[in-house]
Amino acid sequence: MNIFFDVDYTIISYDGTLRPGVKEVFEQLKQDGLDIYVWSGMGIRWNVVRTHGLAPFVSGVYEKPIQNYVEAVNAMLTRQELPVRPEFVVDDYPEIVTALGGMAIRPFWAVDMRDREMERVYRIVCDYRRTGTSSDTAFRPPPSDHSAP
Ligand SMILES: [Mg+2]
Repeated sequence: MNIFFDVDYTIISYDGTLRPGVKEVFEQLKQDGLDIYVWSGMGIRWNVVRTHGLAPFVSGVYEKPIQNYVEAVNAMLTRQELPVRPEFVVDDYPEIVTALGGMAIRPFWAVDMRDREMERVYRIVCDYRRTGTSSDTAFRPPPSDHSAP
């Protein structure tokens, strides 16, 4: 499964501090056989990935569409600007998660080292892989579920 993480307020705070648990959960997801991608509406953020030692766990870093998400992703796939379809999106901006499926994560704006949202990401991903859904209110089903008869 291809998991796409947003950057600002999802894995880092306003001042660039890494959210608690990001490295540990990235490592666990990769061990579980999932492919982790990082994308941002602010450009291709390899600097953030490298600065925080996340590069060993990340399969690619891309630019994130900022509107018309489904159409934009399809166009990016056609133009080969994305190598794989995002199957589970983690983002503090709920609209993109509703459009593409995944988890609407609580924004990590100010630094709070008690934040445990990354553990919640891992639980929801495990639920979703095991059952195809999750009872967590932050979970959003993929768009194919919306269009299912
Ligand atoms: Mg964000």
